[in-house]
Amino acid sequence: MLAAVPSPVTVRVPAKINLHLAVGPVRPDGYHELVTVFHAVSLYDEVSVAEGEGPSIEVHGEGAAEVPTDETNLALRAVLLLAEHADRDPDVSVVLRKGIPVAGGMAGGSADAAAALVGLSSLWKLELTRDELSELAAELGSDVAFALYGGTAMGTGRGERIVPVLARHAQHWVIALHRGGLSTPEVFGELDRLRSGSDAEPRPVEPVLEAIAGGDPRQLALSLGNDLQPAAVSMAPELRRTLRAGVDAGALAGLVSGSGPTCAFLCADRDRAVDVATELAGLGVCRTVRVAHGPVPGARVVDPADPP
Ligand code: ATP
Repeated sequence: MLAAVPSPVTVRVPAKINLHLAVGPVRPDGYHELVTVFHAVSLYDEVSVAEGEGPSIEVHGEGAAEVPTDETNLALRAVLLLAEHADRDPDVSVVLRKGIPVAGGMAGGSADAAAALVGLSSLWKLELTRDELSELAAELGSDVAFALYGGTAMGTGRGERIVPVLARHAQHWVIALHRGGLSTPEVFGELDRLRSGSDAEPRPVEPVLEAIAGGDPRQLALSLGNDLQPAAVSMAPELRRTLRAGVDAGALAGLVSGSGPTCAFLCADRDRAVDVATELAGLGVCRTVRVAHGPVPGARVVDPADPP
């Protein structure tokens, strides 16, 4: 008798912004020591995995042309890693639908890797624990573990050691997307250059954690901060204009997301966010804008009977 072919599994996974990103010294392995607060927002990629003669990958959606389709694609790397871990052949076809801007500092590639891990462990019925998945995620990249959890969480080490942070209140954001991307290693390199010779004081994380717990967006606006922002702005000076325009349009605060060039603007509520987005879109200071909210859950299998 022939075994039934399992149905494809689709996973929805969110983008992240960093509410706080403190960059410490360079470690012996070449990575910087980080203390960050990740926040998952409602821009999503969808990753489908199916049995196939693989591994193979197709990419659709925004920025698809800039996404590699060889084994440097993080979703494919996740497939290969999990196949090795489970001692199976990686005969899998992957389809990515990109809604997260590519090379935008929103960890889209990492999100796809997390989604591929979740999707494939469901397709193969591996029943991995969250800790096992997190360990595999950390091997793939610093931001992959967070994409498994979603929500709001503190990341330490390279960002891969995750502790969830309780955030009872939804926050409303305008996300301003730019043409082109910034390379994360180059932005860290620029930060090292800007800092050379000076001992930067680490940015304390406590104020942002208190503001998240309190839930008042005005308080949160005062404590947002990203050590990579000066480096991203130095490499893409037009971001200064975008950041100013968002605040002039009524956002409570704006910051570069991760290594940029995407900018995130915190707004008092959803209506305000829609107003800020409309105004920013008309000013020509970015390629396009999105309204989003957070925190949202991490990589989750989409129930075919109940699509999002
Ligand atoms: P990082 O996670 O390094 O901060 P980022 O969030 O700025 O990066 P990503 O969208 O993850 O941006 O893409 C960074 C680069 O990774 C892209 O330029 C692309 O070449 C490569 N890449 C590999 N896999 C993927 C993927 N599945 N989706 C998007 N980009 C990918």
